[in-house]
Amino acid sequence: MSFFLHGIGVSGGIAIGRAQLVSHATLEVAHYTIASEQVEPEIERLTQALNAVQREIESLHGAMTADDAPAEFGAFLDVHWMILTAEWALTQQMGVLIEQFDLIEDAYLRERKADVVQVVERLLKVLLGKPGAVRPANAEEQTVLVAHDLSPADIIQFKGHHFAAFLTDLGGVTSHTAIVARSLNVPAVVATHNARALIRDDELVIVDGARNVVIVNPDGAVLHEYQLKQGEFALEQKKLQRLTTTRAATLDGQHVELLANIELPEDLERAVEAGAAGVGLFRSEFLFLNRDELPSEDEQFEAYRQVAAGMDGKPVTIRTFDLGADKHKQGVDGLSRVAPNPALGLRAVRFCLAEPRLFHTQLRAILRASHYGNVKILIPMIVSAAEVDQTLTMIARAKESLREQGVPFDAGIEVGGMIEIPAAVLAIGMFMSRLDFLSIGTNDLIQYTLAVDRGDDAVSHLYDPLHPAVVKLVAMAISSAVKGGVPVAVCGEMAGEVQMTRLLLGMGLRNFSMHPAYLLSVKQRVLTTDVTKITPLVERMRRSDDPNKLAQLLAKLND
Ligand code: PEP
Ligand code: MG
Repeated sequence: MSFFLHGIGVSGGIAIGRAQLVSHATLEVAHYTIASEQVEPEIERLTQALNAVQREIESLHGAMTADDAPAEFGAFLDVHWMILTAEWALTQQMGVLIEQFDLIEDAYLRERKADVVQVVERLLKVLLGKPGAVRPANAEEQTVLVAHDLSPADIIQFKGHHFAAFLTDLGGVTSHTAIVARSLNVPAVVATHNARALIRDDELVIVDGARNVVIVNPDGAVLHEYQLKQGEFALEQKKLQRLTTTRAATLDGQHVELLANIELPEDLERAVEAGAAGVGLFRSEFLFLNRDELPSEDEQFEAYRQVAAGMDGKPVTIRTFDLGADKHKQGVDGLSRVAPNPALGLRAVRFCLAEPRLFHTQLRAILRASHYGNVKILIPMIVSAAEVDQTLTMIARAKESLREQGVPFDAGIEVGGMIEIPAAVLAIGMFMSRLDFLSIGTNDLIQYTLAVDRGDDAVSHLYDPLHPAVVKLVAMAISSAVKGGVPVAVCGEMAGEVQMTRLLLGMGLRNFSMHPAYLLSVKQRVLTTDVTKITPLVERMRRSDDPNKLAQLLAKLND
């Protein structure tokens, strides 16, 4: 029987393959009573299983090389290693732990309960004599992994088997699976809720990551249609490569800057390959996550220097760390307080100003790196003039300390701010007069405008980039900056959505920063756009309060 499942597509593209169910061992354990003399041998069996899983994780770690796996994997394995050593907690208190995780309000932290479950599953697999290896995928037939949830450790193991796609019951856009799937560049749909229960091994599955849909046992006509679509997609991707060195300009000659968003220095290679005009957003907080100790000034300097030098004179915009909210603590001392409402709490620049020593260290590291390239500083989540003034004072102090030591840096380094809170749009003038440039973070701007937690799939249907309020706010931010002569970019996901490219161009945007995977399709859209022709339509969109009308006008814009 053919049926559809819906979820959240976290990575685009189409895959067609046979389902391979990943065992959810916790559901398959037999409960039996043992005699007292069997207790010791059972404990011995458990100890052996723990040792085996420790070796398994060690060998996964050892097998990882820089180009073998994205940088996040190592950190995730470390988390699993730490959980594994807490043997008593795993074996006796998993249920208690899970209940505690379920009570956590923060979606990102709540999702981490999957790490506990996954390690217990590994153990149980060893105990049951079913180590985690998967059967080799048939080279002819693509394999689609179907799991309740997938750990990055599992994915490393599966990597050599050329899986075509991932499908999971759990996970929001911030889940590990989402992060890893994006890094591996294969289609993935998460939050399908019951794919693992409904799909059977070897059933034919179509995963359409762009349309958030999974089709199980498609009939001949649907399968044929998707085979064609898949072929077209592959061809399209290939054709796009030709645009890598093409200058991004509209049909009416407007030059457009297309820059890359990166999380770690390792991501730079992909940005360069995609022909990025620079780095528009370096999410520096990723250097702070999944580790026990804070990165030292030297370690940070080296990371920033590497990116600055690697971009060879092109701009590199380093965002000062945006910790808090969904990027909480992750083993960093001093960041462990769980706020009552983390998204509205001590996050981003608020946190930096509350921890001046950490901030000073980062500012010195960024300034030192500015000597080796075209570096800019970006302050996240600004909402008050006072916090911008304090940040500028902190930057002046960091410069002074370097001057005293005779350490070189770019004295004219530009400082910008992220416009990602509605109040910052409405009072944008006070930031324009203080800062060199602005960058609109649409991910948070949408979250805060619509009061929709961006990591919570229960409200993801309300997360709407085309909501009339969002369209008005983005348009207002861009036009105010353009009128005031302050350079403005968009660096949220909206900048990488091809459907939104013309809308943003029509609003006056000329600077887009996005994940490198989207850069060439956005460039293609830029190359086929005449701004003079679309401006009247965009003006109508800006004035409209009718969601249906907005959707129609957007479709017309993209005709
Ligand atoms: C944003 O909020 O749009 C943004 C670019 O920052 P982040 O996604 O890291 O919060
Ligand atoms: Mg943001």
